[in-house]
Amino acid sequence: MRRPVIFKVFHVVILFTAVFVAGLEVTAAADTEVTLQGQAVQGGLLRGRAAPGTRLRLGRQVVRVSEQGNFILGFGRDAPQTVSLAVVLPTGKAYKKTISVKQRHYQIQHIDGLPSKMVTPPAERRERIRREAAKVRALRTADTDLLGVNQVFVWPAQGRVSGVYGSQRILNGVPKRPHFGLDIAAPIGTPVIAPAAGKVVLVADLYYTGHTVLIDHGHGLNSVYCHLSKVDVKQGQMVEQGQLLGGIGATGRATGPHLHWGVNWFGVRLDPQLFLSEAQS
Ligand SMILES: [Zn+2]
Repeated sequence: MRRPVIFKVFHVVILFTAVFVAGLEVTAAADTEVTLQGQAVQGGLLRGRAAPGTRLRLGRQVVRVSEQGNFILGFGRDAPQTVSLAVVLPTGKAYKKTISVKQRHYQIQHIDGLPSKMVTPPAERRERIRREAAKVRALRTADTDLLGVNQVFVWPAQGRVSGVYGSQRILNGVPKRPHFGLDIAAPIGTPVIAPAAGKVVLVADLYYTGHTVLIDHGHGLNSVYCHLSKVDVKQGQMVEQGQLLGGIGATGRATGPHLHWGVNWFGVRLDPQLFLSEAQS
């Protein structure tokens, strides 16, 4: 039995229209309902907008959308080429938005032929290190509505860049922990200022980082200032952009006076220099 040709054509037209409309729908959702400013890059922060009430999740991280519809996403040193942002619109419509992440190359330094020796710290020091790391990790889970996140960051100190984000040494073939911050070398006492407004959530003398200040800028964005010679703020205090935090030093495990500046999105370590290029562009 044969159906008239006209039915077949009609069928194809309906099918084509359905695919076309579905395609439009996806495009519209991706382009207008959740928008991202610029290109995602390893170690970078991406700002975006969505209708207030939109729910977002990047991996396991729930993403705060402000009452004005602003949000941020952070991408780690080794973030994969594509990541998926789970979206639930206020209407209840759910979909996944694929974000491509620009891949970077980092300074890798191989040092071979080193004499092998014990580098593991003694037990009581290991316990202190573990306790301090857990405390900082817990503080970095905070998700607040502070507004410093919306500011363009300024340099926290004037000096020479002596260490960059992502660099890594491989000693006798064993990869060491990458450097997750920006080092700024300057004489002891050189002022260190807050690059953006926020709340001082930690002032402490830590094993590795010496006198340390941790600032919460909101939406999971936080920054840390290490090896300080002196601290001019108190835990719990609010700071404005440009406010004095302390002085550059060499406290903790440091070979010379410098500021180690780290910026995180929750547990994700970001590249501070990308914030400064945001300021310059
Ligand atoms: Zn450093």
